[in-house]
Order: sequence, then structure tokens, then C-alpha cells
Amino acid sequence: MKYIGAHVSAAGGAAQAVARAHEIGANAFALFTKNQRQWHAKPLSDEAITSFKAACQRYGFAPGQILPHDSYLINLGHPDDTALEKSRAAFLDEFQRCEQLGLTLLNFHPGSHLRKISERECLARIAESINHVLSRTHRVTDVIENTAGQGTNLGYRFEHLAEIIEQVDDKSRVGVCIDTCHAFAAGYDLRTPEATLATLDEFGAVVGFEYLRGMHLNDAKSAFASRVDRHHCLGEGNIGLEAFATLMGDSRLDGIPLILETIEPDRWSEEISWLRAQQRQPVNLAPSH
Ligand SMILES: [Zn+2]
Ligand SMILES: [Zn+2]
Repeated sequence: MKYIGAHVSAAGGAAQAVARAHEIGANAFALFTKNQRQWHAKPLSDEAITSFKAACQRYGFAPGQILPHDSYLINLGHPDDTALEKSRAAFLDEFQRCEQLGLTLLNFHPGSHLRKISERECLARIAESINHVLSRTHRVTDVIENTAGQGTNLGYRFEHLAEIIEQVDDKSRVGVCIDTCHAFAAGYDLRTPEATLATLDEFGAVVGFEYLRGMHLNDAKSAFASRVDRHHCLGEGNIGLEAFATLMGDSRLDGIPLILETIEPDRWSEEISWLRAQQRQPVNLAPSH
């Protein structure tokens, strides 16, 4: 079973995000539990929590189908100790908000070294940040997203993700989200079914599918291996539709949220239907007669 949806707006409250996901025919969704461009947010009210949970129940979304995303301001590998502490405190707050909403996953971008520390030291700081938050919370799993490697962002190689996981104490609460646009921009080819399967196989060998807890399905406006993060609608970018059809036919992606972050929200329902249809007609299968 594939859980397919989009990163919907939570304007008006988290419960509104659930209704929006339902409206576009999704059986998965992503959301921000607070304004993603601000450090502080007022605590979730009991009413907001209750109506979010009720909406999830009404529309049939279990926690495993929901992939909240943290704020863009957080840098869990920050080279400066004071700034790192600020990021860790904000990340802990995000974790607690997810726990209050009954959610079990939290997706985040690993962090940036800002040319002040080595990649290795930055990855160690990120792992330490994860340990810090996991030791203060109970249920939510940290879901590390691969990046395009823009600027000094780490996480653009599958090896970075493996190196972080290696240093996390509680491996039952750490996982990975693969963003197709980021992978492609970082130099993992997805332009043919064969290349797509080879990229997945490489992920399996370096990180392992037991850690795959979600995916972001985005075509790329940016060029292959450009290290530039620019999403596009499915089939309109440099990746092309074959990759997404191939992913829909791959059972290694069953049971995890598959989230569109494509650039035209008006087309999400159409993109979701198209993805569902590919699942029923997997590519690369010869007719049986
Ligand atoms: Zn993403
Ligand atoms: Zn992106």
C-alpha cells in the first residue's frame, strides 16, 4: 500500500491541513506544526490538539501517514555553540509539538557547517543534536532528509546520512526521508527506470531500507548534479515521469508517506491520481501473455 500526499498548508490550524489533504485525495500529508520561518510559536492549545486528532480520525490518517517538517531556521550542526543550543531548543519544541499532536515522525534537514568546521565534525554535531532530543522525548522518530548540497548543507551523500545514524544512540528512533529533487541535484541519477532503481539500490547498500521512513516526490528545475535545490511539477523538470512511475511500482516504498512538494498546489490532486495509477500499472513489467 502506497501512502501518497502533499505538504499542505496548515493556515488556520493543524486541523485545516488534514481537511486540505483529504480534499486533494491524499492518504498521506506533510505539514509545519508552527510557522517555519520564525523561531518562536505560541504553544498548541488543547482545542487545536483535539481538533487535529479528530480530523485525522475522521479522514483516516494514522500517524505513520503524516510527515511533519521542522522549521527552516534550525541548524543542528551549527559550528557556534550558542547558535547550536538555540537550534536544539527549537528542535526539541518541534518534537514536543509533534508528540502533543500524537504524531510519530519529524522530518528535518540535517545542518550546515558554514565553512567553520569540517564535514565530519558537523555530522557529529548533528548526531549529538539528535541524541539530545531523543533523550528528552518519548515517541517521535527523527527523520533526516537528504539535501541537494546547496551552500554548506550536509546530507547530500547517502554516506552522510549513514554517518549520522551510526552515531545515534537509539537507532529505533532515527530514520531517513529521500527527496528525489535533492538526490538528483546531488548527483544521484533518476532519469531512467534503470537509473532510478540503481539509486534506490545504492541507498539500500549505504543506508538501508529499514531506515526509510518517508519520501519527498519532486521533479527538479535544477540540473543533474548542480547542487541547486529547485523543485518542479512531476514530469516538467529534468527528472521526468519515468522515475516516479518506477518508484510507484517499487514495494520498498510501501507503507511510508510519499509527499509532493511540487510547485503548483492546484495540481496536487492530479499528481496524486497519476501516481496512484502508476502503482496499478507498474512499469518494466512485461505483459503476462
Ligand atoms: Zn523535501
Ligand atoms: Zn527542496
